Amino acid sequence: MIKTKNYDFDAIVVGSGMSGGYAAKEFCEKGYKTLVLDRGKPIEHGNYETEFKPPWEMEFRGKMHSEEIKEKYFIQKKGHGVSDYTKHHFINDLENPYIQGKPYLWTRSSKVGGKSVIWSRQSYRWNKLDFEANQKDGHGIDWPIRYDDLAPWYDYVEPFIGISGSYENLDELPDGQFLPPIPLNVVERQVKASIETNFPGRKMIPARVAHLTEPQPIHLELGRGQCQSRNQCGRGCSWGGYYSSVSGALPAAKRTGNLTLTANAQVQEVLYDSKTGKASGIRYVDTVSGETNIVTARVVFMCASTLGTLQILMNSTSDKYPDGIGNTSGVLGRYIMDHVHGAGANGIMPGHRDSYYKGRNPGGIYIPRFQNIKEQQSDYLRGYGYQGGASRSTRVNAQRANQTGIGKSFKEANREPGSWKFKVTSFGEVLPDFNNRVFLHASNKDQWGMPLLITNVAYGENEAKMKQDMMDSAVAMLKAAGLKNVRGYNKPMAPGRSIHEMGGACMGRDPKTSYLNQWNQSHEVANLFVTDGAAFSSVSCVNPSITFMALTARAVDYADKQLKSGII
Ligand SMILES: Cc1cc2nc3c(=O)[nH]c(=O)nc-3n(C[C@H](O)[C@H](O)[C@H](O)COP(=O)(O)OP(=O)(O)OC[C@H]3O[C@@H](n4cnc5c(N)ncnc54)[C@H](O)[C@@H]3O)c2cc1C
Ligand code: SF4
Repeated sequence: MIKTKNYDFDAIVVGSGMSGGYAAKEFCEKGYKTLVLDRGKPIEHGNYETEFKPPWEMEFRGKMHSEEIKEKYFIQKKGHGVSDYTKHHFINDLENPYIQGKPYLWTRSSKVGGKSVIWSRQSYRWNKLDFEANQKDGHGIDWPIRYDDLAPWYDYVEPFIGISGSYENLDELPDGQFLPPIPLNVVERQVKASIETNFPGRKMIPARVAHLTEPQPIHLELGRGQCQSRNQCGRGCSWGGYYSSVSGALPAAKRTGNLTLTANAQVQEVLYDSKTGKASGIRYVDTVSGETNIVTARVVFMCASTLGTLQILMNSTSDKYPDGIGNTSGVLGRYIMDHVHGAGANGIMPGHRDSYYKGRNPGGIYIPRFQNIKEQQSDYLRGYGYQGGASRSTRVNAQRANQTGIGKSFKEANREPGSWKFKVTSFGEVLPDFNNRVFLHASNKDQWGMPLLITNVAYGENEAKMKQDMMDSAVAMLKAAGLKNVRGYNKPMAPGRSIHEMGGACMGRDPKTSYLNQWNQSHEVANLFVTDGAAFSSVSCVNPSITFMALTARAVDYADKQLKSGII
């Protein structure tokens, strides 16, 4: 039975993660009655079930049972983040199937707040070149906006989120509104000096991360506090030391009194009203009761995480739009991208045995893109950056279950820290390709009746050449810095592995070749907006989430003006 809920909402936001949380905050603060629908289970900030658990309270001392991996996490365990401490934040692979036409590693969250609860918090602005790349080298659709259009919106979201970072004045990595950086340790400082001396034009800086190194009133009033450098963030942080939708945007939305948040709500369709030519609302299934509900609003924001959003839009069919709402052009689901990942190097730094540090650095280092900036220098297009850092291996590792020994000498031996290690890994820009796409299976559906998504995405020659260079350059820099036992690696990895999926409902100027205009608004259905990664026409090489939030805030500002002037 389908129930039409008699709520009178101004805005519906689909998804409550990084983008949806921010959309909800902006709408609620502007006075709009806002419904947020999320497929995930409810989560209560401040009550993260494994946050304070020591290994000896975990059934297998923090290791995951191989049978559980085989049964529930057989896809996502190949990627980042799934551990015995965090597994409940990820969906069950068996219960949430999709079809890998070509191998694709799709990571999804199981809870309200989405992947913002489990992310690694790396936050970098795009640069001018990133928005111009498609036009310059002819791959993908030219962005309808440039860096200067978005810069004020980075300025707007960064203070709320709280980004720690250093001011560097680099064109390739614009500065933002920063809290004090997390300082580099002694080995990181040594490697930095070597790179900047031996490789002119390259820089190594403290990672820019969404951690409160010096909380401001805007954070404290939401109950967020200083980061304690425990680096257990993936479990959740009850005092909000790092930004997530559940510690930041959703509480901000809630305190306005304008937020209604419905969990366990699997959105299946954006409803289209042929009389008005607009989206009239949403159809969703309550995954606990099995009931189907219809809710209506004046404007719909899609923030269900790139592929989730595309799945819903493609399933939103009508006489006018048999291939998905607003999809006359046929580009919906095309140009799926993420980041090339899986190459880098590591080594041992001799010396510094008398240098110690306290706490676990949740940031590390960043080496901004240095390839093909002023001119084309390599045999591949675009570029990549490195993340990583130095740490001392401790012989006592509370999370390691397999140590053996007993008695005083064992304890004393384990108190002595080991040698210094340094490692880097890279994220590179994938070229947009029309043939990299997702689409729906004609008849296979999940347990709630949602058609299954098919992924048909592959890397090309450009990505292979870039990856080789990621490894070679990392090895050269680490050797020049005096590291020993330097090992480069270049592992084969399926698309999706970087968990930075983007594209599929790209922004552009021409409705014939793009899905959204310069305001993240559907070219064809004026009150329908897409502000998660699906809107992206290219992917830069930096982690994307801060840009999702900046674009979301900008789009809500525009929708607000359109709503107030009665245009939508
Ligand atoms: C381990 C890990 C590390 C990461 N590290 C970084 C990093 O350092 N920096 C960075 O920038 N990014 C990082 N990311 C990526 C980052 O988390 C994502 O880019 C970001 O969360 C995406 O935002 P989103 O709003 O599109 O999706 P999400 O945050 O995933 O939110 C989407 C929400 O939509 C809901 N949803 C999906 N389908 C439906 C449906 N049909 N109906 C209703 N609701 C639905 C989901 O339940 C979810 O809550 C990382 C991700 C992971 C997993
Ligand atoms: S490192 Fe900081 S943000 Fe992460 S869990 Fe610890 S206190 Fe929270």
